[in-house]
Formats: sequence, C-alpha cells, structure tokens
Amino acid sequence: MKVPLSRPEITELDRRAVLGILDGPTLALGPRLVAFEEAMAKAAGTQFAVAVSSGTAALHLVVRALGMGQGDEVITTPFSFVASANTILYERATPVFVDILDDTLCISPDLIEAAITPRTRAILAVDVFGQPAALDRIREIASRRGLLMIEDACESLGSAFQGLPAGNGRWAEAATFAFYPNKQITTGEGGCIVTDSKEIYRLCRSMRNQGRSEQGGWLDHERLGYNYRMAEMNAALGLAQVSRLDDIIASRQSVASRWAERLAPLAERGLLRLPWIHPAVTRMSWFVYVVRLAPEIDRDAVLRDLLGKGVECRPYFTPIHLQPFYREMGYQEGMYPVTEAAGRQCLALPFFNTITDEELDYAADALRRALDR
Ligand SMILES: *Cc1c(COP(=O)(O)O)cnc(C)c1O
Repeated sequence: MKVPLSRPEITELDRRAVLGILDGPTLALGPRLVAFEEAMAKAAGTQFAVAVSSGTAALHLVVRALGMGQGDEVITTPFSFVASANTILYERATPVFVDILDDTLCISPDLIEAAITPRTRAILAVDVFGQPAALDRIREIASRRGLLMIEDACESLGSAFQGLPAGNGRWAEAATFAFYPNKQITTGEGGCIVTDSKEIYRLCRSMRNQGRSEQGGWLDHERLGYNYRMAEMNAALGLAQVSRLDDIIASRQSVASRWAERLAPLAERGLLRLPWIHPAVTRMSWFVYVVRLAPEIDRDAVLRDLLGKGVECRPYFTPIHLQPFYREMGYQEGMYPVTEAAGRQCLALPFFNTITDEELDYAADALRRALDR
C-alpha cells in the first residue's frame, strides 16, 4: 500500500467552478477574485482581504506595506517554513530569531521580549501546524513596546484563538493565508492578506498589481509593484473550497482524532508525543499531523523505514537558521536548542481529508514496527 503525505480533495463542484471560468471572458481581475476576497475577510473576521499568487507573496507584501527595510529588525521564529523569514530578507530587513515553546512549537513570548532592541520594528509570529501562536501575549508586547505585529496564518485558516479566527485584526496589523495544495483549502497556488487597516489594504492591492492605483490607467504605476495577482481560475477554486471550510475542518479534526487513538499506546510507552493544543486555541484547524519521537530514537531511521513501506512522512521542519544560506549568514547549531530538538524529533504523518481507516491502520502499524526496531 502507498499512503501519501497529503492529497487535495477536489470535488465535482470545485471542478465545475474552475471550468465555468473558461466559458467566460474574464480570466483575471474578475468577479471570482472579489468574491473569494470577501469570503476570506469573512473567515478571518477582518474588514479587508487581498488575494495574491502565493502565501510567500502575501507575506512579502505585508512586510513591505509595513515599511520594513535595511537596519530594521523583525523578531520571528526559526521553527517555520522558510518563507516566513525569507520575506524579511527580501526587504533587506534583519530577521532576529528567538526560540519556541516546547509544547506548542510556536514562538516564545518571553524570548520575544528579551530580544527587543532599539532597532526592533516588528514581530512576525507563525501559527505552527494549524495552532495559533500566543497571539494575546504577543499583541500585548507589541503594543507596550511600540512594535508592529504580523501573523503568518498560512497554516491556520479556520483555527480560532480565544474565540477569534486566525488572522483576526484584534491581534496583528495584518495576517496571511496560503493555498498550496497541502493546505486546508487550495487554489493550486495562492495566498491572501487579511487586515483591518485600510492603508495596508490599499498598499497591498496596488503592489500585487504592478503598483497601479485604483483610479489610474493600466499603464500608470504609482509605486514599485509586482505581479502577485491571483487568476480567476484559482479564485474560483478557492471560493468553492472555502464555502465548505467547516466540513473540511471537521473531517481533518476527525482524522487527527483517529491518529491520536491509534498512537495512544505508543505515546503511553514513551516512544512519542502527540500534538498538544493550548487551551486558548478554541478551534483547531489541522494543517499537518506531527508527532515528536522520543529523543533517543533515530528519527531519520524511522523515516527511512516508513518511506520503504510506502508511508510518506516528512521531517517537519528543518529549522530555518540551519538551512545552508542562513548558516552562511553566521547561524549555527546550538543557537536555538528547543527548535533544534523539535527539528530532530518531529515527524509529519500522512494527513488529508479523505484518508481511510485502512490507510491509517497501515501507516500506524508501519510506525509501530519501525519504533519497535
Ligand atoms: C505554506 C506556508 C507559507 C506560504 O507558502 P506558499 O507556498 O508561498 O504559498 C508561509 N508560511 C508558512 C508557515 C507556511 O506553512
């Protein structure tokens, strides 16, 4: 049997929505884009949304709209997908990494506070594997110290923190979502900025569209911009998918529970730790299902074993500061011990809406055998 790590669920309605675009005259900057943005603003509980071509593009535009540049420090986490720190580098600002909490794997508020210098301008928090970071405490620190806050919610669409949806304007100045095929909903490629700030909204809309203004002509460019637009086919797919977001979250919750049942005996034997969700997370929208193997277990040997049996797993995440081009900037092992331990021990298991009990049994059995070696 082969069990993939992830698999998008494309329904008949999704298919029809995309094909419908091809029957019409508008392939870009049309009504689907507007409708998708309305749906995303609704999902985040924000006033504004700007859909773009990827989650990375969304983060880039937010970093730029907030005016980050050379000499500015942005405090962020090394335990994330590489794009969250890269987009700070795009603007020649400096990512300042601080370590994570061992239980949620999200950035540590206490360490954020300790890392603030006169050059610190912003905090870029990442919701890891679907779980929102300590958004209340990070907001409190940002407000008290006069800093901006960005929420990378690219993994947490549909989660809620203290009753408010991930991406909500109560916490960060702006937040981002991503729609790569392994995310909760997909547009093929895509991303979105959500915010309550009219200024950020206006800047991001202009910059995704070559720096054009709302009123000016097609060949009038007010500022440096990019082509980060989302096409109508992608927006149509996203709109169809987000309309059943509640069902998607429920089926992913069910898969997480079925994994937990199967892995409970291994957790009891101390071979691994199951994901732990903070009580302030009032709704969990699972992105991936990641377990932590006991420190004495050779995670990479287990990974090879599972791959050999057709069970696709992945070591989520390799810490950003240990990626080759970050090492060249002077980062090295030993700087962020909690992140590095998680990087050595974490294993993402097959996880998608439509995974069957048979596939779960097969994968869980393969994991048990690998751990019993
Ligand atoms: C997926 C993801 C992104 C954006 O990814 P794209 O592939 O550019 O859409 C950014 N940050 C995190 C934490 C992510 O998981």
